[in-house]
Amino acid sequence: MLQVKLERDTHTYISSLPKQEPGEPDIIMSLKPAGDMSSGGSSRTALLENLQVKPERFFSLKQIHSQQVYVSGPALSSAQEGDGLVAGAHDHVLGVSVADCMPIFLFHAESRNFAVVHSGWKGTGIALQALGQFRERYGIPAEDVTAVLGPSIRSCCYQVDEARAQLFRSNWGRDSVKWRATPPAHTLLTQHSTDSKNVHNGESTGEAPFLDLLSANLHSLQQQGLGDIRFIDECTACTADLGSFRREGPEQFTHMLAIIGYIK
Ligand SMILES: [Zn+2]
Repeated sequence: MLQVKLERDTHTYISSLPKQEPGEPDIIMSLKPAGDMSSGGSSRTALLENLQVKPERFFSLKQIHSQQVYVSGPALSSAQEGDGLVAGAHDHVLGVSVADCMPIFLFHAESRNFAVVHSGWKGTGIALQALGQFRERYGIPAEDVTAVLGPSIRSCCYQVDEARAQLFRSNWGRDSVKWRATPPAHTLLTQHSTDSKNVHNGESTGEAPFLDLLSANLHSLQQQGLGDIRFIDECTACTADLGSFRREGPEQFTHMLAIIGYIK
């Protein structure tokens, strides 16, 4: 497991991920100051123009927090409901929008196949659907795929009810839920809390459950045998220049665009 960092361009408000090996696809995320990247909006159009990605190369979906994955191609409409895209051609560019949910980028550099999924609490497990497509369509076993887990809301900020916590814990392992006594304020630029515990000690402690999307996805990908898993250790709710549903609120949160492809 390798921690990687988004490199920020403070002029364009585009961030990118340094490549570790030749042949890896470009991985790019817009930052909050680049504007809301909702489908059909002017910010998204401007970003793709800036990257010199022609509209016919770019694929996105109408996201619904599902585990539905599609292969990109001329017949695929951006009105199609789903949350994951596997590239149907090497020159395609794929994007999902995120604001607290985790973008997960998958690729196999040798064959130049790649995918991106939008994985929130409801859709957790969608990365496994994309891995299934890699295997079925391209004959690439999961252990040969590289995964990059993008920024998401982390357990420092993602308080949930007990039912949701229980669901996560049984599906994605004990570490996917942290119990903590004090809910943190959603203030900017706080450090990740370090006082989290993985085990709930008794019922009347006044602790609340917090979801850890990173642990949940690590757990599921490691179970599939992936050897090369990279992650970005940034909480969207704690980081001022990232879009966050919880921090910014339902009326005005910023969708960031998470993009993968051989762009240049
Ligand atoms: Zn946080």
